[in-house]
Amino acid sequence: MEPERHDSSPRMDTGPSAQADGRVCRWCGERFPESDLHEEADLGPLCGRCIAAIRSRGESLSLKD
Ligand SMILES: [Zn+2]
Repeated sequence: MEPERHDSSPRMDTGPSAQADGRVCRWCGERFPESDLHEEADLGPLCGRCIAAIRSRGESLSLKD
C-alpha cells in the first residue's frame, strides 16, 4: 500500500515582473497605468474614478499633480 501523496508544493508564478507596470489604486485596488493614477497626499495613488467618488462625497483631496 502506497502512502497517500498530495502535491501541495506552492506555485511560484508571481515574480517581480508580475507587478512591473502600473500601480494599484489605494481605494478600489485595481491596477492602472502610472499615468492614470494621481498621487494624493494622505491616501496615496488614486484612480480618476475614485477621485470623483471621493469628491462627490464632499471630501477634499490634496493631489500632488
Ligand atoms: Zn480607484
